[in-house]
Amino acid sequence: MRRIIRVGTSTRRFTEYFKGFEKVEAVRRIFGEETEEVLRNLKIEFMGFGGYMGVDDMNGHLMVNARYLSSGNRVDIYLDVIHELYHVKQFMEGKELFDTRYEYIERPTEIEAYRYTVQEARRLGLSDERICQYLKTEWMSDSDLKRLAKALNVAC
Ligand SMILES: [Zn+2]
Repeated sequence: MRRIIRVGTSTRRFTEYFKGFEKVEAVRRIFGEETEEVLRNLKIEFMGFGGYMGVDDMNGHLMVNARYLSSGNRVDIYLDVIHELYHVKQFMEGKELFDTRYEYIERPTEIEAYRYTVQEARRLGLSDERICQYLKTEWMSDSDLKRLAKALNVAC
């Protein structure tokens, strides 16, 4: 049986849509001297439906919901990019991004990426209340949000 291979027509370069991230300190701390090279080679794909942003664990591409990118809150998008770039780094290190032995909110790769993102959010001056608002997604229950916030030392 033939495998269906996705053609790259919807694949774009990260740097076409996200400008100046190679100068962001929080990004430079993730990739170090490889920052320019990693971002230059990073591909993005637009998802046709739902969700916000993610990393494809097959190829390391950044998956982006086009509608979210055009109408989402700028600070949320910035923090999502930081979060996802952290996942790109984990992917490059060969880490399992979607380890199903764990629930989303307690998966080590998620906690690590969220901790890094919360640190950047605090540096930007976001209050814990605003960070909670950022962490909350429609698929997360209140008790899950509380558990995640606790793991990240954010007062929700
Ligand atoms: Zn994540």
